[in-house]
Amino acid sequence: MSKPKCDFCSDPAVWDGQYEGGTWAYACKRHDWLLSNKRRLPLQGNKNRGREAAVEIEWEDIDTPRALCPCGRKQLVEPDATEGYCMDCGMHLRFEEPMTQLMENPEALEGLL
Ligand SMILES: [Zn+2]
Ligand SMILES: [Zn+2]
Repeated sequence: MSKPKCDFCSDPAVWDGQYEGGTWAYACKRHDWLLSNKRRLPLQGNKNRGREAAVEIEWEDIDTPRALCPCGRKQLVEPDATEGYCMDCGMHLRFEEPMTQLMENPEALEGLL
């Protein structure tokens, strides 16, 4: 699958957003200012968009839960979230609420405090 190109030059696109009048367009790093309402494109071209995976949560410290995507990315998530999307591959990530997991595992909690 080839990655989208910038609609204003021939560089690889980094952003997907709306151009004048609300038309959707892709933009590279240099042309991102032309878009409003933009979001960063996944680095691996959305290869897992539309797919879903149940994933593990890993804690870096007490404020930093990360969901482990099958593509290898560790994605920062909210402590009270139960799902998210991988920024790299577009995978729909589902997980047990990180805070609940921690409360059910006091030993892990101690290790983080
Ligand atoms: Zn460009
Ligand atoms: Zn991923």
